[in-house]
Amino acid sequence: AHGESVVNLVGLGKDYGGVHANKDIDLHITGGEVLGLIGPNGAGKTTLVNMISGLSRPTSGTAEVLGLHPGTAAVHKVAAAGVSRTFQQSKLFGQLSALENVMVGGHLVGRPTFLRRLLWLPSARQDEQRLALHALRCLERVGLEDKQTTRASALSYGDQRRLEIARALASDPSLLILDEPAAGMNHVEADALSDLIGSLAQDGLTILLIEHNVGMVMKTCSRIVVLNFGEVIATGTPEEIANNPAVVEAYLGSS
Ligand code: ATP
Repeated sequence: AHGESVVNLVGLGKDYGGVHANKDIDLHITGGEVLGLIGPNGAGKTTLVNMISGLSRPTSGTAEVLGLHPGTAAVHKVAAAGVSRTFQQSKLFGQLSALENVMVGGHLVGRPTFLRRLLWLPSARQDEQRLALHALRCLERVGLEDKQTTRASALSYGDQRRLEIARALASDPSLLILDEPAAGMNHVEADALSDLIGSLAQDGLTILLIEHNVGMVMKTCSRIVVLNFGEVIATGTPEEIANNPAVVEAYLGSS
């Protein structure tokens, strides 16, 4: 819910051999916030979101996400608690339709519990229809309902990225992590994506946006965290970040 702590990282670190991919990171995200995470290549952004989503374990510090500790909780438990994400590299099934791709992401929601099986004995067919309806709603949410039967590989690049968001929505997340969703998009597509993120946030979703398109991040996010060499070098509003000398020197000046 709004204002509640969704992510709380204290002194979080991740070492790979001698490399400090993340070092002493304090980061808080509250419900309903759209937080941007920026920084140069290799700054540690992916490492950080991998720890938040439970895909990798911190070497030091503590992470609390939606009341769970992803440093120790299994990754499927973190997902079930309401964390969903897209990846830098597309993970769509090219041969499947847009709708089927989303249905794959919704299997968590669609799986009948033992109790429901016992009480209703729903047929597999009914289950599939329910799942398809839910998937269609997710496609509508990103404006792809007209493309439900189109094979993923036949969609435009921008539509493929939106489809990945639709699939991430299928598990009904409360925290949505987007890893460079605007990469490769043109201006029009990136603007539409920014609007979509804004409307998802209005629906109550908390969003963590990793992006190299700084203009898009500034337009979309209420607060921005800047990483450099694995450490947080600044946190603030888009305006504060744009005028922060350390950020300009480490990142903005060169882009
Ligand atoms: P990009 O913007 O290019 O995606 P990033 O900010 O996401 O970069 P990370 O991918 O998190 O950065 O990498 C941070 C540092 O950790 C880099 O120096 C990288 O080489 C190192 N690193 C990341 N993953 C591993 C790994 N599995 N083994 C060894 N080193 C790694």
